[in-house]
Amino acid sequence: MLDRSHDLITVMDRVGTIVYASPAWGSLLGWDPDAVVGSPVLDFVHPDDAEGTSAAIGRVAAGDSIDAITLRLRANDGRWISFDSTTTPLPGSHGEVAYVFATARDVTEREELRERVREVDALYRVADAVGRATSLNELLDESIDTLLEATGADRAAVLLLDDDNVMRFRAWRGLSDEYRAGTEGHSPWAPDEVDPQPVLVGDASHADVDERLGNVIRREGIASLAFIPLVHGDRLVGKFMLYHDELHEWGDSEVRLAGTIANHLASAAIRTKARAALRDSRELLEMIMRTVDEGVIVQAAEGGIVYANDGAARVIGFETAADFLAADPREVLNRFEILDEDGNPLAADQLPGRRALRGESSERVVRYRVLETGAERWSFVRANPVYGDTGSVEFAITVIHDITTTRARAERVRFLARASELLNETLEIESTLGALADVAVPAFAGHVTVDLYDDGVLRCVGARHVDPVKTELMIRLRRKYPPTVPEHPVQRALRSGEAQLVPDVQAEAESMAHDEEHVQAIHELGNTSGIVVPLTARGRTFGAITFGTVPPQLPFTEPDLEVAVELGRRASAALDNALLYREVGARAHAAKALEFVLDGVVLVDSDGIVRLWNPGAARVFRVKAQKALGRPVEDVIADWNTLSERITTAPDPTAGASRPETLPVDVKGSERWLSISAVPFPGGTVYAFCDHTEERAVDQLKSDFVSTVSHELRTPLAAIYGAALTLQRDDVRLEESQRTGLLDVISSEADRLARIVNQILWASRLDSGQMGVAIESCDAAKLAHQVVHALRALAPAGVELTCEAPDALPPVAADPDKLRQVLTNLVDNAVKYSPDGGSVRISLSLSGSRIRFRIDDQGLGIPPAEQSRIFEKFFRLDPNLTRGVGGTGLGLYISRELVLRMHGRIWVLSDGRRGSTFTVELPVAS
Ligand code: ADP
Repeated sequence: MLDRSHDLITVMDRVGTIVYASPAWGSLLGWDPDAVVGSPVLDFVHPDDAEGTSAAIGRVAAGDSIDAITLRLRANDGRWISFDSTTTPLPGSHGEVAYVFATARDVTEREELRERVREVDALYRVADAVGRATSLNELLDESIDTLLEATGADRAAVLLLDDDNVMRFRAWRGLSDEYRAGTEGHSPWAPDEVDPQPVLVGDASHADVDERLGNVIRREGIASLAFIPLVHGDRLVGKFMLYHDELHEWGDSEVRLAGTIANHLASAAIRTKARAALRDSRELLEMIMRTVDEGVIVQAAEGGIVYANDGAARVIGFETAADFLAADPREVLNRFEILDEDGNPLAADQLPGRRALRGESSERVVRYRVLETGAERWSFVRANPVYGDTGSVEFAITVIHDITTTRARAERVRFLARASELLNETLEIESTLGALADVAVPAFAGHVTVDLYDDGVLRCVGARHVDPVKTELMIRLRRKYPPTVPEHPVQRALRSGEAQLVPDVQAEAESMAHDEEHVQAIHELGNTSGIVVPLTARGRTFGAITFGTVPPQLPFTEPDLEVAVELGRRASAALDNALLYREVGARAHAAKALEFVLDGVVLVDSDGIVRLWNPGAARVFRVKAQKALGRPVEDVIADWNTLSERITTAPDPTAGASRPETLPVDVKGSERWLSISAVPFPGGTVYAFCDHTEERAVDQLKSDFVSTVSHELRTPLAAIYGAALTLQRDDVRLEESQRTGLLDVISSEADRLARIVNQILWASRLDSGQMGVAIESCDAAKLAHQVVHALRALAPAGVELTCEAPDALPPVAADPDKLRQVLTNLVDNAVKYSPDGGSVRISLSLSGSRIRFRIDDQGLGIPPAEQSRIFEKFFRLDPNLTRGVGGTGLGLYISRELVLRMHGRIWVLSDGRRGSTFTVELPVAS
């Protein structure tokens, strides 16, 4: 029965010596069943199982039965075959245990299966370790434990090729420092060996190594060892070492398992190494990225963001890269508006990053406007595709350079340049304000208001709000509540001359408002911040300009203040120009009016230079405008310094002109009486000159006439009165000749009286246009002779009167009475003004188509300067009668008027010292 069993049946004595072996010893193990009888069973048991086996035999010998132990028995060909063995005691004749009976069943298949499970388990554990390990060292450490457990080796080590291709111990168990030092660097394979194979050394004493190495191994107590290559992608990366302290037959399965673990480990090592390198470089990159201002975004092919630095996050309005990466991408996109350089919406697929994912490298300016705040950031964005092994785009790397500040600066410069341009284009206040509003709203501010002084009162002259409806509201509000409250920023700006930044208008509403209603209105308008810039030019503050922000525009900050100040400066200049132009315009009209003003108007600037010289001034001073303008006033007006001292100037323009002062001024040698008034203005003084010389002379003449005429009348009247009284007297007896003499006096003085009265009559008739002239053909010589004859009788003894005329003198066209009167006047004067005697000669001649009457005397003469004036009414050279010659000053006036009415002319020649020549020309009668 035993012989037929497939199971291995063995009977042993109490110490394990085989006493019977079934035929299965031959069929299963290849031993001759009879030959094994007498051998200790332990000779066939695997060393590892020996201990358990002998313990089991001992227990059975003591009477126990042992159900199942697994042990490996050596086959004749050296293989180890696993058996499940049941052992029971066999009693002897006396009931004591005489033998040990063991049946064993071949469980190789089952054991192999179990082995596989262990391998898989080991692999699992390695895989798990690989997954868990955060560093290569940790991984190696973990895997070496697994390896020891899975293979049952006594010791183990992992070595990796370093950068110099030298095998270095990276993890080990049970190896001395000395051993490691002695064997490090040794490798059975060349570093570049293709497909390296495990090297198994069952007996270390026979290992194919040099003596030194052999000694090191021996000293370490290593009996067997195996070299398992770590290979990754055909490349040797290191080795596994397995050691047994006893001689060990290296089985296929353990080598295979070691090899599998090695493979795992190799790739894990490579991966971990690569990952570590990546992490290291990434950490470095991170550090760089954190420090660089540029934003960096790495996008995966599907568009997801795999990396972003803080710089990139900031551009999009996040604090940190972590915040950015944690955010929902769609939500992120909705947070801002993407615009191109010109402010037009930019399609997302036009962004360089998206284009890079399509394989295009590109760069462009992108504006990100954060919708919530309205803040806008300008970026220069550049993106490049990164290709993978397969040639397709794996990543897009986008580099974002924030150019907001530079752009803002450039933008400001551009803005101010445009502002200057626009402001310079206009010279009218309205269009200047319009230009200002155009440039400032909305590019710089949400609204702008301009307040200018008008007669000392601040008035809103213009406003513009980004919302046209509010423009009206703003202007109405400004009119109702002018910025006159002392704490109003406009007042502060005007007082200090400094621009005022109000970061939070709403917070200051109370302090700048007139009343509660005003506060409400300020809240309603909803301005967030404001800047007030005083408008000053040429040292004069003429108003203030107010800029304000309205949401969503961001409130003003310090840099905006600079822009506002600059803009204010330019606006001031433009407004000043416009105001000046308006003044100049007004002045131009005034200047035009001055052309027609008879008074001389002269504008002298603060440097004493003549800036305005109207035709009146040219007449008064007999200096043309071209000669006066731009020259020092003292060069133009003689004796200016003395004169100006005597002119009282009005204290200020508003006080009006000073009370005019009439002063004698020497004009080109002749004295003119000028009434002068002066008004100061910011750049100098305006003088008005009015020539009163004529009026003054007429006044003078009138008073002179009164005294002259009264004297002239009194003299003949006194003579007549005296003569008449004498003739009347009874007590005086008069000779006939005396009576005749007295009567002559009466008649001649009456005659003289009549002449005087006549002259006055004639003059008044001439003045009133009642003097008729009847021109006829007259005999000039005959008339002249009659006059001389009549006057000769009256002439004093010292004066000799003659008259000469050519024989064939043509008749003259004249009114004979009037001509007689003219000649009488002239001859009478000639006699009169020759107090020292001399000849008076009247000579007639033909001069062209005219008859010329020339009256020469040798008398007092007439100074050339006065020669034109003697023909004026009442004018007398010697009104005070110093030479005792009387007259009314009417004779020559009457003569000139009559000659002119008879279409003739009259003039005088005299050197002013001795003698005069009066000439009258009248047309020849046709
Ligand atoms: P009157 O009645 O004073 O003579 P006229 O009109 O005849 O007035 O003359 C004006 C002035 O002209 C005179 O007062 C005198 O001073 C001056 N005059 C006129 N004729 C002569 C002359 N022949 N010689 C000098 N002076 C003269």
